[in-house]
Amino acid sequence: MIVSLIKKIFGTDNLRELKRLQPLVKQINELEVDFEQKTDDELKAMTPLFRERLKQGETLDSLLPEAFATVRETSRRTLDMRPFDVQLIGGIAMHQGIIAEMATGEGKTLVSTLPAYLNALTGKGVHIITVNDYLAKRDSEWMGTLHRFLGLTVSVIHHGISQEERISAYKADITYGTNTEFGFDFLRDNMALQADMQVQQGYNFAIIDEVDSILVDEARTPLIISGPVERTGKQYFQDLKTPVEYLMRSQSQLVSKLLNDAEALLPDNEYEACQHLLKAKRGAPKNKRLMKLIKDGPLKKIIDQIEMDNIRDKTLHEVDAELFFSIDERSNTIDLSDQGRLALSPQDPDFFVLPDLSMSEELADLSDDERLAKQQQLEKDFSEKSEKLQNVSQLLKAYSLFEKDINYVVNEGKVQIVDEFTGRILPGRRYSDGLHQAIEAKEGVRIEAETQTLASITIQNYFRMYAKISGMTGTAETEAAEFIKIYKLKVLVIPTNRPVRRIDYTDVVYKTKKEKYKAIIDEIIRMNEMGRPVLVGTVSVESSELLSRMLPKRIKHSILNAKRHQEEATIVLNAGQPGAVTIATNMAGRGTDIKLGEGVIHCESCCYLCEADKNCSDCPDPVKQGKKMTGCKKDMPCGLHIIGTERHESRRIDRQLRGRSARQGDPGSSRFFLSLEDDLLRIFGADRISGIMNRFGMEEGEPIEHKLITRAIENAQKRVENRNFEVRKHLLQYDDVMNKQREIIYALRNRALHDASLEDLIQQHIDEIAPGLCDEYFHEGIPPEEIDIKGFKEDVFKHFATPLWNTPEELIKAKPEELEQLVLDAIDAVYHKREKQFGTEMMRQIEKWVFLRVQDELWKDHLLDMDHLREGIGLRGYAQQDPLREYQKEAYDLFLKLDSHMKIEFIEKLFTAQIMPREEIREQEQQKNIVLGRGKDPDQQEKKPTKRKQPKVGRNEPCPCGSGKKHKKCCGQ
Ligand code: ADP
Ligand code: MG
Repeated sequence: MIVSLIKKIFGTDNLRELKRLQPLVKQINELEVDFEQKTDDELKAMTPLFRERLKQGETLDSLLPEAFATVRETSRRTLDMRPFDVQLIGGIAMHQGIIAEMATGEGKTLVSTLPAYLNALTGKGVHIITVNDYLAKRDSEWMGTLHRFLGLTVSVIHHGISQEERISAYKADITYGTNTEFGFDFLRDNMALQADMQVQQGYNFAIIDEVDSILVDEARTPLIISGPVERTGKQYFQDLKTPVEYLMRSQSQLVSKLLNDAEALLPDNEYEACQHLLKAKRGAPKNKRLMKLIKDGPLKKIIDQIEMDNIRDKTLHEVDAELFFSIDERSNTIDLSDQGRLALSPQDPDFFVLPDLSMSEELADLSDDERLAKQQQLEKDFSEKSEKLQNVSQLLKAYSLFEKDINYVVNEGKVQIVDEFTGRILPGRRYSDGLHQAIEAKEGVRIEAETQTLASITIQNYFRMYAKISGMTGTAETEAAEFIKIYKLKVLVIPTNRPVRRIDYTDVVYKTKKEKYKAIIDEIIRMNEMGRPVLVGTVSVESSELLSRMLPKRIKHSILNAKRHQEEATIVLNAGQPGAVTIATNMAGRGTDIKLGEGVIHCESCCYLCEADKNCSDCPDPVKQGKKMTGCKKDMPCGLHIIGTERHESRRIDRQLRGRSARQGDPGSSRFFLSLEDDLLRIFGADRISGIMNRFGMEEGEPIEHKLITRAIENAQKRVENRNFEVRKHLLQYDDVMNKQREIIYALRNRALHDASLEDLIQQHIDEIAPGLCDEYFHEGIPPEEIDIKGFKEDVFKHFATPLWNTPEELIKAKPEELEQLVLDAIDAVYHKREKQFGTEMMRQIEKWVFLRVQDELWKDHLLDMDHLREGIGLRGYAQQDPLREYQKEAYDLFLKLDSHMKIEFIEKLFTAQIMPREEIREQEQQKNIVLGRGKDPDQQEKKPTKRKQPKVGRNEPCPCGSGKKHKKCCGQ
């Protein structure tokens, strides 16, 4: 019976996969009686036995049944839980590198102990990744009991532990921690100046809990370690704040006027009115009055049509011309118009116009010195103005698109980002490119210093380093394509231990947010009066608080939002008590189980989740077998009730919220309340939905509930999901280029860090650079009188601090090989003299230090160059070039330059380095200032004005790449 039910729900491929694992489950079950008989000591003795058998050549796969039977029995004894068969299936799947989709409350924490134990037997370490520190600690303690019983070591890494603790934590068989802890440790390890400061031991097997949250949601932003910018340009946020506020006010007056005009034209002159409304929308998309005016579908449709027409005819700038600035909500960009420039700087309208750097005519009559001075002045103006413009654009964004308590909160004088998906505060993370400073200026808190990237990696590329990864979550299926494509991870949907008994009601859609909220309050009160616990999921801190204020005093409730995330777990734990009302931002408290309190369940068998068109004869629900609808179906009388206050961009997040109810076969229900003013509906799906609404003739205050609407919303969500997937894929395609470079650089670095001596490397570099110099000055066919002996000697001295005492005749006469040998010998002699002076041991130390310092310094600059390249490349698309291909090509060139630059600089510094013990201290101080953060959401990227152009380099001038060669012989070839 169960099998056919599963088939109905999960499709045949999945079923085949489940069947494939059945024999293993059978084997484990058959071992159960044997293992029950074992004494504690015999059970404990299994671990060394397995390890021995591995040594003898057995594989993890062949040990699996016995190892799983061991864990099952140990779990029963130590945790008082006997893993169910479906949990064994989940465990096998994860061992095989598959994502196990198991509903909330199915006991995934316990499931993970099965593959963790088995894979830890190799001694290569298993990392279990959780969504927050709290869960890492909880799970490591909870599951640690089981593992420790079996003789494994278990550890946890979290914010605030010491370096020593971290090192020993990574040596454990099983290590728990968040993805950011693991990722940042990786980056820090690659900034370590001594081998014994590195903490990680390798990347063997990672089990990722709530895998969709980590590999999909978090993967939108890379992990970044940054430090203060050394040569930071001046920032103008403070000075610009007042003018920008004035600009905001002017724009808002203008928008009001546009709205008045539009209203005067309505209802007779719809088209003309919509032209005004489009302008208003481009000026202030979140204007309340505007939103109210166009909430009715038809106007919105006309506006969108006019906008599309303008985009097609490339006339959008004419629409925007009257505005002070225009906002494109879809691409999240802001453009300042001439009007806007004038308003910002009435005395000098040109103030915000970038100077033309190629004013060659004007410069033609000047003397060389004057021209140079003039050019430098121009460049200075240019960079100052472009910085100011950038600051203005960020301030406008901060005022128009970023709302306090939705996108960020202000806590103790700090602006903190609120995660758009989870609603949690992301402490320490900053928006990049000055946006964070702009928000700080807006909120009047201290503006913190701009920082520069020292190291970064995407979540995708961090996890790709593991020999094997797997994961578990309640919601992976909708993202299965992405898991396969990006991570080569399959998804297996595993049936619940007991059939699901949750009724998911159709969405109710209201015209306005106000009506929607009122309906939500009514529903909460109704459920509360029935004694049912209610969990309300919101998308922002603001709507949580709004609902809380709207609730009558007598209804006691807890709010779970980004501001109080420490208490999350405890509050969620009680969310299943009779009459409990919990308002939580999306997914807050994920990972904590909501157990139902006494009296919340009234009936033991009803309301099994079913699909309308499926055969009901083998349904476990006795009522449905007779195909009669129960009263329950219309109004669920028991279990936890979930209220969604808005649809999320991603269906997965909605499923996650629903999944909080009806765990482990409990009854439960869920309902989403929407309004046409919700962002998702407004931006992505309004036409179709309002079309349907009109068809059904909707009255004020009257909601609509229809499958068609639910489907239209789902389609809107699918479109957004696809777009977001594209964004992540895009990020990854670009990061792949970086990743290859990072792998090379980090491998070099690690070799330098761990090798006893760098002598071979140094010799290689010298053997490459010195002959290059000889060749450059003494190339074939050059007449002896044209050889620049002085230049040659200077170059040799510059690179190797080695004076050449030979006469010009000696050098000119020498055959090429002799010349090379002569130079190499001289260099060698100098090097050995230095070695003698410092002592061998110290010399080895200096070599390492210089290598690491030079590499880190140049790598950091390279990261900045790559950032600029990436920003600039977006614009190339217009020139019919494939931006990604261009990016790859230019990134490769940059990398070649970095490579040669690094070699030369390393050798130069090595020959001139002096012992400066204070350096070490400074270095360590600098390390203290580093900031761990996340990159900007690629979705929110914008186009910056192109940065200063590289000044043109003469063919005979030194190459700007720093190689010391002439430009024509180096990058200018
Ligand atoms: P999930 O992560 O899948 O949402 P949890 O790991 O938080 O679920 O577990 C949910 C609850 O189920 C926990 O209270 C746990 O003790 C319980 N549980 C899990 N597996 C079993 C089992 N085999 N027998 C009894 N209780 C179990
Ligand atoms: Mg969990």
